[in-house]
Amino acid sequence: MFDLDTLIRKNIKALKPYSSARHEFTGKASVFLDANENPFGSPLPEKFNRYPDPYQWQLKFQLTRIKGVPAENIFVGNGSDEVIDLAYRIFCTPGVDNVIVCPPTYGMYEVSGDINDVEIKKVNLIDGFQLDVEGVLSSVDANTKLIFICSPNNPTGNNMRREDIEVILNNFSGIVIIDEAYINFSKQKTFIQELTEYPNLVVMQTLSKAWGLAALRLGLCYASMDIIDLFNKVKPPYNINDASQQLGVEALQNTDLVNEWTTTVVQQKEWLIKEMGNFTFVETIYPSDANFFLMKVKDAAALYTYLSDNEVVVRNRSKDPGCSNCLRVTIGTPEENQQLIELLKNYNQ
Ligand SMILES: *Cc1c(COP(=O)(O)O)cnc(C)c1O
Repeated sequence: MFDLDTLIRKNIKALKPYSSARHEFTGKASVFLDANENPFGSPLPEKFNRYPDPYQWQLKFQLTRIKGVPAENIFVGNGSDEVIDLAYRIFCTPGVDNVIVCPPTYGMYEVSGDINDVEIKKVNLIDGFQLDVEGVLSSVDANTKLIFICSPNNPTGNNMRREDIEVILNNFSGIVIIDEAYINFSKQKTFIQELTEYPNLVVMQTLSKAWGLAALRLGLCYASMDIIDLFNKVKPPYNINDASQQLGVEALQNTDLVNEWTTTVVQQKEWLIKEMGNFTFVETIYPSDANFFLMKVKDAAALYTYLSDNEVVVRNRSKDPGCSNCLRVTIGTPEENQQLIELLKNYNQ
């Protein structure tokens, strides 16, 4: 049923990728006169005069060690945003193909589709912000190339039911992209162990959230080797700069610290949710498996303004479907969370 060849855009299938200097020569050499670089160095304490590894092997070896996925099944993007954009460019012919997204969800799926002139079909989440599996599958047509599933979902915070995701994986012959940006905070198991089971599966993760590296722009993508090859073919040759690669490798040594932070964030989330429950202006706090939670309040705009007047900024998601009067609150440090609660105690609605 799944045939990768039929999903690829014609121009991408025919594409002869750019071949860089770092690409063409792989043997042993000590004098590099092949890439028009500055031979002396950089006006910096560290040298950045040489082009970086186009495939980020050191970073991928660290990811393999931590995630247990072979390096050949990993692609690294300049943030998840690049992975999303490349998926559109590999699979979706502008003005012809379409994708399915399930709002309320991460905004970049739609923006990236709009940029690529690809139709977005929206199948809203249903009770408990879960997938409308029948609605999704009945929206699929001959030109549907991608289905985006965000789990845990942003901005609602909940996991999608695993069985629902599996039904979609089993019944859709296009690509299913599961965005696991918040998986470190979740009780649910990742899908990256299922790559051999589902040839149409692409899993995205990121070093921007739990790993604390948002500024380095390291978005991760796991898929079959055939799909990873397509990402490598279409990406800009040096999409991950060398500073990000080196710092990423260094950061990935420190799993213990990240695990500690993650545990603290989850504990702090429970505490914050409990405290929030005491306020009469908080109507609903939605269950969260992420490092934020969504809450429905009496007047989201007023509360947002009160908080920002006091230099605390949260996200107003009221315009998202099913999210009227909802604010999304990221878990801060214990001190910041305390500060938020004290501020709310003085809130006169
Ligand atoms: C934050 C977030 C990302 C991460 O994006 P990066 O470009 O990797 O920083 C991806 N997906 C979702 C749903 C997010 O909320």
